[in-house]
Amino acid sequence: MLIVVGAGAAGLMAALQASRAGASVLLLERNEKAGKKIYITGKGRCNVTNDCTRDEFLREVARNPRFLYSALSFFSPQDMMTLLESAGCPVTVQRGRRVFPSSEKASDVTRALLSLLSREDVRLRLNTRVSGIRAENGAVSGVTLEDGSFLPADGVILATGGFSYPSTGSTGDGYRFASALGHTVASPRPVLVGLETSADWPKKLQGLSLRNVTLTLKQGKKTLYTELGELLFTHFGISGPLALEASCHLPEDLSSAVLTLDLKPGLTRDQLDARLRREFEAAGKKQLRNVLPSLLPAAFAAVFPSVLGLPEDLICSQITSAQREALLQGLKSLPVPVRDPRPVEEAVVTRGGVSVKEIDPATMESRLLPGLYFAGELIDTDAHTGGYNLQIAFSTGALAGYSAALRGQAKEGASDI
Ligand SMILES: Cc1cc2nc3c(=O)[nH]c(=O)nc-3n(C[C@H](O)[C@H](O)[C@H](O)COP(=O)(O)OP(=O)(O)OC[C@H]3O[C@@H](n4cnc5c(N)ncnc54)[C@H](O)[C@@H]3O)c2cc1C
Repeated sequence: MLIVVGAGAAGLMAALQASRAGASVLLLERNEKAGKKIYITGKGRCNVTNDCTRDEFLREVARNPRFLYSALSFFSPQDMMTLLESAGCPVTVQRGRRVFPSSEKASDVTRALLSLLSREDVRLRLNTRVSGIRAENGAVSGVTLEDGSFLPADGVILATGGFSYPSTGSTGDGYRFASALGHTVASPRPVLVGLETSADWPKKLQGLSLRNVTLTLKQGKKTLYTELGELLFTHFGISGPLALEASCHLPEDLSSAVLTLDLKPGLTRDQLDARLRREFEAAGKKQLRNVLPSLLPAAFAAVFPSVLGLPEDLICSQITSAQREALLQGLKSLPVPVRDPRPVEEAVVTRGGVSVKEIDPATMESRLLPGLYFAGELIDTDAHTGGYNLQIAFSTGALAGYSAALRGQAKEGASDI
């Protein structure tokens, strides 16, 4: 018997592949339903994978990309797309080769996986929380449940996810199980998460979304991240695709990081300077704040002079060259002082987890405890947005399921002799 702990993306796929490879599988899930996190992915649309090559994929993996080489070769994004189509869930490739179910309903992805599982020898037990993994004679021997009962198994796949969005069931149980069995667990921290700012002005712009701006993260002279896209102001600071991506690149020492916003990436400094001169000359005695809406959204234009420390009632014809330089600098490179990332509970992904040095990348089996396998976000690897994180869960899950099934058969074969 093979036990899979956690019926999220990784666990569902592990159970499916293990059963297809001949194993008898028991899939344990603490929630009242499977795949709870999948429902909220991609804002309910589920960006299920990315239709790219393996090498392109690995370039999008922020942590431990090489570890994923075998898993992605074993079960690729294209394999995932074919699998979904075979289960009656057609997919559509959108901008950036992001793949979504054509219905744009995340629930269809879970439904497809469950319908494939229903054709297999897999028993799904819901409302069943595992409390520990047991080992005997140097190999895994089964799992204990919250009610104290023990379920024996020749193999256990841990697919309990990370720490983020704990209401979906991922509360870090797997980290505790792995470390109790002697594994190194890199301390979990949030990535793909909003950023709190120390300045108040972003909070005043709460709800405003800017498209086609460039966010740049630097440490000294080194550019850690720079991208054109969409930024959202919130009650705590900044969020939206650019802020989430930037959070992947934050250095440990936040005080050394400088985040700046280019509000006019389509214009060079010289072009923008010429435009400011022209606008101010034409505006004459008008106040600056009445002219800025031609350059910025109205809400931003209203606070912009005070953000730069300029008088709010500045008259265009009286703007000095130093003040114009401050405006130019503010439009092209506005500092956004970051205080902290939001907590891990709000992160799309948890960085950290079970050390990849202690997992065989060709099988996903623990190097410390035979018969124990890892899959999904629990492992210390994570990627940017674009469907990569779910695919990591599917690829590592598929490989773990297949390898655990083969190991079980090899053991049975050996005991028959
Ligand atoms: C808001 C949001 C949006 C996202 N959008 C996308 C997206 O569009 N595309 C993308 O690629 N990625 C996205 N992600 C990331 C992606 O959802 C995760 O990386 C992926 O779901 C991880 O899968 P997993 O199976 O490893 O973990 P999970 O999906 O967290 O599954 C773990 C499962 O284990 C169960 N479990 C935990 N402990 C126990 C226990 N002790 N006993 C029994 N069961 C247990 C949990 O209840 C859960 O069902 C998003 C994440 C969030 C939070």
